[in-house]
Amino acid sequence: MAVTHNLGFPRIGAKRELKFAQESFWKGQQSAEALLGVAKEICAQNWALQASLNFAPVGDFSLYDQVLDMSFTLGHVPERVANLDGAELDQYFRVARGRSAIDTDCHCVHAGEMTKWFDTNYHYIVPEVSASTEFSLNAERLLTQLNEAKGINAKPVIIGPVTYLWLCKEKDQSNRLDLLEKLLPVYSQLLEQLAEAGAEWVQVDEPALVTELDSAWKTAFDHAYHTLKANRPKLLVTTYFGTLGDNLQLACNLPVAGLHVDAVRGASELTQVVDWLPSHKVLSVGIINGRNIWKTDLAQALDTLEPIAHRLKERLWIAPSCSLLHVPVDLDSETDFDPEVFQWLAFAKQKLAELAVLGQALNNGRDSVREALASNQQAITSRKQSTRVHNPAVKAALAGITPELGKRQSHYPIRASKQAKTLNLPAFPTTTIGSFPQTPEIRQARLAYKKQTLSTADYEAKMKAEIERSIRQQEALGIDVLVHGEAERNDMVEYFGEQLEGYVFSKFGWVQSYGSRCVKPPILFGDISRPHAMTLDWINYAQSLTSKPMKGMLTGPVTILNWSFVRDDQPRKNTCLQLALAIRQEVQDLETAGVNIIQIDEAALREGLPLRQSEWQAYLDWAVECFRITANGVRDETQIHTHMCYSEFNDIIEAIAHMDADVITIETSRSDMELLDVFEQFEYPNEIGPGVYDIHSPNIPSEAQILTLMRKAAERIPAERLWVNPDCGLKTRQWEEVLPALENMVAAAQKLRQQLAS
Ligand code: GLN
Ligand code: ZN
Repeated sequence: MAVTHNLGFPRIGAKRELKFAQESFWKGQQSAEALLGVAKEICAQNWALQASLNFAPVGDFSLYDQVLDMSFTLGHVPERVANLDGAELDQYFRVARGRSAIDTDCHCVHAGEMTKWFDTNYHYIVPEVSASTEFSLNAERLLTQLNEAKGINAKPVIIGPVTYLWLCKEKDQSNRLDLLEKLLPVYSQLLEQLAEAGAEWVQVDEPALVTELDSAWKTAFDHAYHTLKANRPKLLVTTYFGTLGDNLQLACNLPVAGLHVDAVRGASELTQVVDWLPSHKVLSVGIINGRNIWKTDLAQALDTLEPIAHRLKERLWIAPSCSLLHVPVDLDSETDFDPEVFQWLAFAKQKLAELAVLGQALNNGRDSVREALASNQQAITSRKQSTRVHNPAVKAALAGITPELGKRQSHYPIRASKQAKTLNLPAFPTTTIGSFPQTPEIRQARLAYKKQTLSTADYEAKMKAEIERSIRQQEALGIDVLVHGEAERNDMVEYFGEQLEGYVFSKFGWVQSYGSRCVKPPILFGDISRPHAMTLDWINYAQSLTSKPMKGMLTGPVTILNWSFVRDDQPRKNTCLQLALAIRQEVQDLETAGVNIIQIDEAALREGLPLRQSEWQAYLDWAVECFRITANGVRDETQIHTHMCYSEFNDIIEAIAHMDADVITIETSRSDMELLDVFEQFEYPNEIGPGVYDIHSPNIPSEAQILTLMRKAAERIPAERLWVNPDCGLKTRQWEEVLPALENMVAAAQKLRQQLAS
């Protein structure tokens, strides 16, 4: 008998109910009871959906973040919060976001740092540790949820002790691994309390096992589980997001009752795991992809599972590869979706239904679910054969890619001098990163246009008026290289996706990014082509209004790829190459139209890095090649810019240099220009625009602050290769902030020029 179970379910609710409840609690419009009521409701709905599983997760729900929950369970609350008044919920939100509903402006504390949960787009609150960190059990949240979980066979979920420490950040010179001794007794107590509350199994998430671990971390795993084996509950150690690699034997041999592996990303090592796993252990095979939105090929999954079921019998469990947190809740919410593509998709609820079919087939034979398998097969075949997925012209173009496509006519120094002649820019040229404030009027116009209460002509007129406004403002400010302001774009990826062939969009396909923030990644389902120019008319219009150079503004292929749900039927590299060819056409159209400066944003290039460092180079190789194919089909005189908004370049500087953009603009204002060190040490040869305006803050940088930053920059990068610009786009700011900030920026640039001349 194969056992079905799930690792975690999305907690935002099918219509983002949690988000709205959180936000109204934070604004003081709703009581804590009301928020907890919504939370309870979502949990109850989630459990109802999972009632037919042999085990359903409890404790996967979170009011903000599961890592923060674990910190509270371990009594691990930052000192700056611990002594403040208020209920535990207030403390919790203070760590999460700097303040709770009861706090006034002067009472907020600084929030916990946020970082990405492995290679997902989910962000967790980083637990802060030091040598003096202590832990003490607070199991109330888990026990309450366990008590409330009705109609399911509950399996509490916790983050394992080693992964918990792995996620922590030291605030002093200590080594977080040294805290394991203090941590394990608290885990033991927790496990005992869960046993007391009736838990037979506990799911212990240890995704750190799919990363590269040195011997100290490996020893920690052994040590932790040899200690915890004395406790009553059976432990299912879960690993996900990749292969176990050289941690495979370690994982198989941990003294626990069961191991979960990601059989989607780790398909290649599944047989090895089955061979290695001691014969008393349960193996949970994560066969349904928890990271994308495609239907599982159930027949193929059964081909994999049946021989394992034959060997393991009741020791085989089946599940999604990871928590379903990373996919939208329910495809049934989509009422007017593209019908052909619709049948190829599965969101969280649909993935659970697939799991049920697989369980039935394993336990009662494929015949017992004949109809379900047949309709699944029909959908799989339709996707494989669809002419909307497979476009021979795109495949031919891909096959025709030569190394020449990624090469520019000349090396940087030659291009730079030609560009200097045509562009004739002053020293320390000023520019912005692309977007100007997205005002309520812009949003309203977009909404009305979508709802068809605003005609195309009226919508375009409104956008053109916005473009004109931002151009006049930039001219008045005296900025050197102008942008059109991106008024027509709601999102830098969606905008391009909507105009490319091969994309569809959901209405409710939300996925939690952090706290109440959700994103709705577009779905890239087919071969990518560009039926028509995407930005040309807007840029042309903008250029027609001014004699100053206008920067064409595009999103790069790697960023489009990394911020979409993409195909699983071809390597990511191929999808990215298709995007590269499409954006390249746009670059060339812009150039033909006389646009001399083209910026290709690669805001998400870094976040595509694989979890294992040993796989980084392969990714960077194709990612950079895709950028080069996009950018490099232009004349020497055309200046290519790229933009990246994050601040860790140390380990990818070589790849950045290989992109060979004429100008790169980056986020540097918060780092006080320190991150330019790596550009200096590397002797980065091309031009750089280090950000001098922190666009995430409402603060307006003064001329003096900008000057200080730029002088620091000039200590590291030769002045003749520096640009002056904000950290990133300005779309989330208000004009009232942007204008004085840019005024100061231009004034600072003028001072710098005077000094350079004297
Ligand atoms: N051009 C984009 C903008 O200005 C860049 C945004 C980003 O890097 N995230 O909005
Ligand atoms: Zn940016």
